[in-house]
Amino acid sequence: MKKMNDWPKNCRIVLLYRRFDVPLQPNNHVVATKRLKNRYLEWLGLTTIALALVRCAFPGVAGHSAQPVMCEVATDSGAFRNSAHLSVGDTPHRIYSVPSYQTAFPDSNSVQLQAARRWGVSPVRDRRDAEARKSELVYMAASPYYHVDQLNASIPYLVPRAALLLHDIGQAFFDSLQVKGIPLHRFIVTSVLRSQADVGRLRRYNGNATEHSCHLYGTTFDIAYNRYETVSDPRGPKRREVRSDTLKFVLSEVLRDMRQQERCYVKYEVKQGCFHATVR
Ligand SMILES: [Zn+2]
Repeated sequence: MKKMNDWPKNCRIVLLYRRFDVPLQPNNHVVATKRLKNRYLEWLGLTTIALALVRCAFPGVAGHSAQPVMCEVATDSGAFRNSAHLSVGDTPHRIYSVPSYQTAFPDSNSVQLQAARRWGVSPVRDRRDAEARKSELVYMAASPYYHVDQLNASIPYLVPRAALLLHDIGQAFFDSLQVKGIPLHRFIVTSVLRSQADVGRLRRYNGNATEHSCHLYGTTFDIAYNRYETVSDPRGPKRREVRSDTLKFVLSEVLRDMRQQERCYVKYEVKQGCFHATVR
């Protein structure tokens, strides 16, 4: 996972502003910094309380002096801030899934394309172009909630609206796993923004298949439903095995809720083995 310290200093400041919901006010830096500090102290207090609760609920967590992954997730992201969890003696919530994936996630390319054109960016030349367009696009691959696959035909940038949606899907997925008593897993993002350079490469293999793709706009991402990444302490006890199907059921509940809240369009892609989602 990419740590915040690995980022250039100005990026870290912008990340902190975003993390603590402080509006960016370039002309009022002192006030903004003070507010950031207050938010940070507030967040620190909440995280400490949340971690204490987690330690009470899962005494095993405290059994080892080092818990790299769990701690990293908890402190690096505030993952337990306002997060749902099971207390001792609570009955885990049931897993319902959706009655049919095709029916629950029917949004065709033409429907998603309208939203992509509404919220998206103009064509992006390549990765350098994406990095230069800081006001339009955000780097999305450094999240504690999901893993970004090795991207072959896309780059890890989204418009802020879509990045926030993906973050919220990840957080809701963690929360759902916790209240259902399922060991934490991260879902895997397999495709993000397709630059013109990516399109050029893809055309060599597949004619004009990418001409009307929502992935050209930075509004759309694919989430694999057949594989997940376990979140565990490498030095801790071995985690209980969880079937991909179980995780797919939970993920589909989360995506169904987001879709019903009109935050996104989702298509269940059988051939690609993914949920193809566009922010709306
Ligand atoms: Zn897609």
